[in-house]
Amino acid sequence: MQKIVLASNNAGKVREFEALLAPLDFQVIAQGQLGIPSAEEPHPTFVENALAKARHASAAAGMPALADDSGICAHALHGEPGVLSARYAGLEANDAANNQKLIAALEGKSDRGAHYVCALVFVSNANDPEPIIVQTRWYGTVIDEARGSNGFGYDPYFFLPEMGLTAAELDPEKKNLISHRGQALRELISQLQERHSKIKKN
Ligand code: IMP
Repeated sequence: MQKIVLASNNAGKVREFEALLAPLDFQVIAQGQLGIPSAEEPHPTFVENALAKARHASAAAGMPALADDSGICAHALHGEPGVLSARYAGLEANDAANNQKLIAALEGKSDRGAHYVCALVFVSNANDPEPIIVQTRWYGTVIDEARGSNGFGYDPYFFLPEMGLTAAELDPEKKNLISHRGQALRELISQLQERHSKIKKN
């Protein structure tokens, strides 16, 4: 079984990745289990931050790495909180403080549209010159009152109009089927499988 380090210390994300990767032939090890600290995320784009996290985890663990950088972008706020989603209300901010800041920033705005973004990167080693990179979106709206207790982060306020539910009201399996992270991981796995099948043929 191929060992792979997951470059995240976010418990919500680790749970989702473990569920998504369970059917595959990977042994997923969260970087925290190996004592690897979080990487810096200094870049202005999700992709650059995800790549930095993947290279950092792969170098420290000496194995292939998978990293995502994700966040929520509110359309009326020109994409804020964006790459700052985890620390929108400050470096040590928790989900409640971040959500409160988002709701306050959207007060009085008629456009409540938002999307989650997931940039997902796989590197086979720390200096991999051909990382696999995918980026996906999940569209919804932001509501003022929290609903549901599943998921994490902004999920209780992220409403899916076509389903009449927030992301925190979805079963975890259902969220993984349609979320930005689920979409990204399926696309990345299909690219990995295509690569392997071509290598085997040659
Ligand atoms: P990162 O760990 O720097 O990628 O930060 C991601 C942040 O974006 C999380 O801490 C959450 O605040 C938010 N986020 C990303 N994906 C989700 C999700 O699926 N649900 C809720 N919040 C999310």
